[in-house]
Amino acid sequence: MIELPAAISMIEQATAPLPPRRMRLCDACGRVLAVGVVSDVDSPPWDRAMMDGFAVRSEDFQAATAGETVELCVVVDVAAGDVTSLTIASGTCARIMTGAPIPQGADAIVPIECAVDETQNRHAGTAVRLRDTHFRNGQHIARQGAAFHRGQEVVAPGTRLWSAAIGVAAEAGATHVFASPCVRVAILSTGSELVAPGDLPAFGQTRNSNGPMIAAAVSLLGAEPISLGIAPDRPEAIRSLVAQGLAADVLVLSGGVSAGDLDLVPDIFTQCGVKKIFHKVRLKPGKPVWFGMLVREHAPPTLVFGLPGNPASSLVCFELFVRPAIKILAGHPRGHWHLPGDRARLTAPAQAAMDRPVFLPCGLARDRGVLWASPLPWTGSSDLLGLAAANGFLALPAGGNRYAAGEDVNVVLRDGSDGLNA
Ligand code: AMP
Ligand code: MG
Repeated sequence: MIELPAAISMIEQATAPLPPRRMRLCDACGRVLAVGVVSDVDSPPWDRAMMDGFAVRSEDFQAATAGETVELCVVVDVAAGDVTSLTIASGTCARIMTGAPIPQGADAIVPIECAVDETQNRHAGTAVRLRDTHFRNGQHIARQGAAFHRGQEVVAPGTRLWSAAIGVAAEAGATHVFASPCVRVAILSTGSELVAPGDLPAFGQTRNSNGPMIAAAVSLLGAEPISLGIAPDRPEAIRSLVAQGLAADVLVLSGGVSAGDLDLVPDIFTQCGVKKIFHKVRLKPGKPVWFGMLVREHAPPTLVFGLPGNPASSLVCFELFVRPAIKILAGHPRGHWHLPGDRARLTAPAQAAMDRPVFLPCGLARDRGVLWASPLPWTGSSDLLGLAAANGFLALPAGGNRYAAGEDVNVVLRDGSDGLNA
């Protein structure tokens, strides 16, 4: 049995980012960029109208004292997508729509709302009267290159491609990017007692909740879950599905890793060539957890996790061990992958375990700068209901201490609760 920090650092040492690949930009959401995106255009590519109104020469307004009406001849209408070769001379203007290029000679936009009374709907060939009490030279124009220039790196390597980063890459002309591939995670539930969630369990049977739960946890990390279903506790059945799972980047198996007669999994892993790195961590729930790797000649290794079958143990082990491994494989900068931890103030007493660090489900809420942790009713490692209501865990060290309401303790935030850090 090893200590939790040692287990986490062994996983970190065994894990390296998957080699980046070229992929379509539209497939790259959530991936970590390996090679920066450089723009082939200025943004905006030309001086762009940012309001519907009239493109004018600022000098025609400089003479007007505040609030004075200026009358101009509308010489052309320019909608977004239109271009005009006309030059706006003094005393004239263009009717212009948001997103259209500014005609030569014009250097400011007067919003349509500033057209006096009936002249709001004036088009080319008529006169418009404009009163703009807040007029500033150059107003309502986005200048060419104001956001970025041709040749500029607009998305840096190491960026996780979220929606706006994908948007700016598209604007910069990237149809493909080099980024970390999606991590493929095979998921196998073992246990002869297990039945699919759609089946009504007969006496002695248990629904497979770990499979869907781990698949969901994998999806939330932006990785691809590959469900291998259920293997009964027979060596051949487990072996053949483990062999399939070893084709993925990560194999997460649950059940059959503790010390019972039918806990066949550690031997099967070894028979399949998986090298054990650790088995059993001083931790509650989750003590029987197993970790190893299948090393290959010309391909990255497959990381193999055997999680205890009890659903809460499985999930705690996933969050503590599998999550960081997936983050590293996916190219996230080291040191950023770990479960976000924090200090929180208890709203009610909590009891630590004597022999092992314990993780207890809790509700976390921030109120006026204080993070509060409310221990949740929970009957133990087979109780998923208590866990489902939680957005974090109390992380209490071994020693059997009792913590009173108002005391500060360590907590870890469930994946997806990162917003609580803000
Ligand atoms: P094991 O780790 O195989 O000894 O299983 C420990 C407990 O977890 C047993 O009560 C199992 O029935 C239960 N269990 C194992 N796998 C699953 C699963 N996929 N879904 C729900 N419960 C499970
Ligand atoms: Mg079992």
